[in-house]
Amino acid sequence: MKIIFEDIPDSGLQLDVSEEAARIGPLLHGIDAALEGPVTAHLEAMRTDEGVYLTGHVSARLRLICSRCVSEYKLLVEPDFSLYYVVGIETDAEQELHASDLEVTMTPVPELDTDDILVSQIAVELPMKPLCTDKCKGLCVKCGVDRNKEECDCVIEEPVDARFAALKGFKPK
Ligand SMILES: [Zn+2]
Ligand SMILES: [Zn+2]
Repeated sequence: MKIIFEDIPDSGLQLDVSEEAARIGPLLHGIDAALEGPVTAHLEAMRTDEGVYLTGHVSARLRLICSRCVSEYKLLVEPDFSLYYVVGIETDAEQELHASDLEVTMTPVPELDTDDILVSQIAVELPMKPLCTDKCKGLCVKCGVDRNKEECDCVIEEPVDARFAALKGFKPK
């Protein structure tokens, strides 16, 4: 859906959108997550002299793969955001706005695509290192069992990383 700046009434525009996973999913290029159900959002747009101030709330259910145990898990992301869209290309005015601590996005045309907004807000919420739970034990590096579900008898040498190596001399024998 497009938000055309000049169509926004002086009192502001409120918009509730719900987009099917089949529509938004393909736009999540290069993102290692699948959508589970529709993405919904509540958006509020206010015009200013230079552009549009947009606040909103997005809600999306995702399926991710845990980076430790490789099992699939679900994650609900619900970002709240506020963005300031200024029409035009980089100018002195933009730099002034940056100084005022507001996140400014330049837009060459006076309109916004709600799909783009949903996709970028979801992307921001994705974990760098997906984990099914903070306590996930991962897979045994020797036999490959999921150590959340099974114990194994493998003896695993403690990894010596730089932090521990520095402490080694203090360890009691
Ligand atoms: Zn896991
Ligand atoms: Zn094992």
